[in-house]
Amino acid sequence: MAGTLITSEVDFEASGKHSGFLRVPHSVHRSAYGWIPVPVVSIKNGDGPTLLIMAGNHGDEYEGQIAVSNLARKLEHADLSGQMILLPMVNFPAAQAGLRTSPIDDGNLNRLFPGRATGSLTEMIAHYVENVIMPLADYAIDLHSGGSSLFYPPNLLRGQGHSLEESEALVRIQNAFDLPYAWVFKSGGGRTSTAHTAMSAANRNGVINVMAELGGDGEVTPDILLRAEHGLHRVLHALDMLPSYRPDTAQGTRELNVQGSIFAYTAGLFEPLKSIGEEVSIGEVVGRIHHPDTAQSEPEIITSPHEGVALCRRAMAQVVCGDAMLQIASDARPRAV
Ligand SMILES: [Zn+2]
Repeated sequence: MAGTLITSEVDFEASGKHSGFLRVPHSVHRSAYGWIPVPVVSIKNGDGPTLLIMAGNHGDEYEGQIAVSNLARKLEHADLSGQMILLPMVNFPAAQAGLRTSPIDDGNLNRLFPGRATGSLTEMIAHYVENVIMPLADYAIDLHSGGSSLFYPPNLLRGQGHSLEESEALVRIQNAFDLPYAWVFKSGGGRTSTAHTAMSAANRNGVINVMAELGGDGEVTPDILLRAEHGLHRVLHALDMLPSYRPDTAQGTRELNVQGSIFAYTAGLFEPLKSIGEEVSIGEVVGRIHHPDTAQSEPEIITSPHEGVALCRRAMAQVVCGDAMLQIASDARPRAV
């Protein structure tokens, strides 16, 4: 299939609930005929759309991995109209190690699409997802978080859509997911995208797709996990895939455009002076970088070149030149008062 060397233990055409592994061949000293097990679940029943939900694209982002495995365990095929394909730890070596990238080849899966059929292990996974899984899907959700180094409030990320129909579907998914924030991309994401993310892989395949950032800081935040699971059920219902679910009233989503990140230019310890969701104006002091190794030196004062709200902040205190400390986003449209 598409030149891939990966085989699936799960038959994606079979009705019912099936789980197993994508076998990624990995012939090494201790296992000549060995393979890396990427867990996969297919739940299929009758007519309806096919929804792909992935997590563990970055291995140190945990809320999505738990939310997807909870879905795999709790939903039965009789609950569903259509098909869910679940990849709870899509970059399995990274997820097993609790690292953003694979410890085997340093591969950052979300920078390696469309991958290569006979490339590195991570490139082979990217190639399989782009060329075998994505063509099966009508919709895709890729669950992330800030990982070890960043913390995001629950927020959905989406493009504008390539047609009126797709734009409406994206808004329907956003409203159903009902996360507090949505990061709406102003451009990009076309069918001919040459970007290297799972989102671009979905766009190249004509799959209507969103991402979500769900916490981070290398931990699991229980209320964010609950919110993610709740949102996924609501999305399934909104796509007519979970007919018996009774969604509650949406709390509402604030749409934002990201203005940019604020980066460290010196090494030291970052003290944030803004919390997530706090308003930030241009030139305002948003943090300090301290230098306890030269205790007499004054901390560096960090000001914002952007206006908006703090959407994301660095979780680790230590910074070096080039580290993002805060990300600022502004309202995508005027807010009702
Ligand atoms: Zn990520």
